[in-house]
Amino acid sequence: MPLQSKLPDVGITIFTVMSKLAAEHGAINLSQGFPDFDAHADLIDLVARYMREGKNQYAPMQGVALLRQRIAEKVQSIYGATVDAEKEITVTAGATEALYAAITSVVRPGDDVIVVEPAYDAYVPAIQLNGGRPLYVPLRFPGYEMDWDRLADTLTDHTRLIILNSPHNPTGKVWRPEELEALARITSGRELFILSDEVYEHIVFDGQPHQSMLRHPELAAKSFVVSSFGKTYHTTGWKIGYCVAPAALTVEFQKIHQFLTFTANTPIQMAYANFMQRSEHYQQLAGFYQSKRDLFLELMKPSRFKALPCAGTYFQMMDYSAISHEPDTTFARRLTTQHGVAAIPPSVFYHDGADHRVVRFCFAKQDQTLIQAAERLCRI
Ligand code: PMP
Ligand code: GLN
Repeated sequence: MPLQSKLPDVGITIFTVMSKLAAEHGAINLSQGFPDFDAHADLIDLVARYMREGKNQYAPMQGVALLRQRIAEKVQSIYGATVDAEKEITVTAGATEALYAAITSVVRPGDDVIVVEPAYDAYVPAIQLNGGRPLYVPLRFPGYEMDWDRLADTLTDHTRLIILNSPHNPTGKVWRPEELEALARITSGRELFILSDEVYEHIVFDGQPHQSMLRHPELAAKSFVVSSFGKTYHTTGWKIGYCVAPAALTVEFQKIHQFLTFTANTPIQMAYANFMQRSEHYQQLAGFYQSKRDLFLELMKPSRFKALPCAGTYFQMMDYSAISHEPDTTFARRLTTQHGVAAIPPSVFYHDGADHRVVRFCFAKQDQTLIQAAERLCRI
């Protein structure tokens, strides 16, 4: 019997494609977002310790209680949000699972979902699998500003969910406080929810505070706020994330979560719970990555690439129009195979393949890696 794909337009993600190409050609991999340096040795020791101590069976479905407690303490201390660790937090198998569970919790066939483009590639397939219709609002190139009036105009009577992401992958754009105010005005009195992807919450530069939905009680009351330990602790391969949402939303979220994965692995949750007491780690993370951004920008100055503003995340967008007029997918491929540096072509993050002759580089790399990559990029 022929299989009718539920996702006929979906192929293998660009991250897998580019990392594979980089490996095949021995290129420096600045494409897929992950650090090429290790997690803190103490964090790794803690995982090993909990494994040896026999913490190897199922964690509670909602997540290890102490970890949820630590998450509640963190969002209280940073965002001033009072969150019930029992009823409003779920630990997930990466932010990816949390995104899927949140979308599945609220999106029904025929619902509209607002997606801001360029959009991280996990959102739209989840909307479609739930029978929803994505409605796209583009960030305005080249500053990637949000057009809030356009977002307001895009809302329909069927709009059920707005998906937002700050700090934003791939552009590095971050919300300003007045933007949360605009969002609150637009959504006030409407029956819709917000999914706020904040996986880079601790990577906001130039002294700016992260504008979490959790800072804004009116927005928090309708939001699923998603984060990822992978980004914060240099452990993207461990795949642990979490979702903070009001109790009524968390009930629905957990109905999905318990049958997607049931729970995330125990020893790593326990290790994070222990390590999170060292709040200096996430407090220093923005400074750590800002130095890398600044090093990469400095190294790239002599090149023909033109850097676009980057206020957060560990991604730097670069305009290559002075070098080539090729489509970004062609250019990114050639950059990898001929010049030995892999990058992500952002056109894949647009439903219509919008192409601004820009590529995304990941600077979550050792300084030596960035130096070598920049050397190659400056020769082009
Ligand atoms: N959202 C965004 C914007 C991301 O960049 C990523 C990156 N990996 C994720 C979600 C998924 O996070 P995780 O690896 O924890 O599933
Ligand atoms: N979020 C990472 C990126 O944007 C990669 C995630 C993945 O490989 N699925 O590069």
